[in-house]
Amino acid sequence: MNKGENNLLTTEEIRALPKVELHMHLDCCLSFDVVSKLRPSITKDTFKNEFIAPGKCKNLADFLKVIDTSIQLMQTENSLRLVTEDLFNQLQQDNIIYAEIRFAPLLHLEQGLSPENVVSIVEESMSEAVKETGVEARLILCTLRHFTEEQSMTTAKPVEDFPSKKIPGTGTHRPIA
Ligand SMILES: [Zn+2]
Repeated sequence: MNKGENNLLTTEEIRALPKVELHMHLDCCLSFDVVSKLRPSITKDTFKNEFIAPGKCKNLADFLKVIDTSIQLMQTENSLRLVTEDLFNQLQQDNIIYAEIRFAPLLHLEQGLSPENVVSIVEESMSEAVKETGVEARLILCTLRHFTEEQSMTTAKPVEDFPSKKIPGTGTHRPIA
């Protein structure tokens, strides 16, 4: 393999290497492309300010603010499907061969979807995208630290309900902002 300057791999070479993503959040990965579909009037500058965390965040709240902007856009079947498809297009472009994607279903209920609807939409979109892109993937359902036990159990329930085995478990680590 050719080496770039200083014997480091070039960006293109890194992109071409097969890779795995073991920890990524669905709501942290929206591209400008998918946000433009959901908010057609958005400019690149606004996207950068509202959806991309600053290189150096002052605190965790600074980072979570941009995720909340994404979550607001992910409250319908159509938007959840588009965001999932968009993520797989990005994974394919980066030559990711396997990804574990996590998200918190209970953050997507603001426009009437139930937790079951949300998980089913994302699981189905993911399964279709796996077939289309060849990127293998699993879905981790996240609960949040400030959720009640009942909310956490609601989050975990679909792990048993979905026979596809594409949802192996649940996780958490997002602290209270
Ligand atoms: Zn994380």
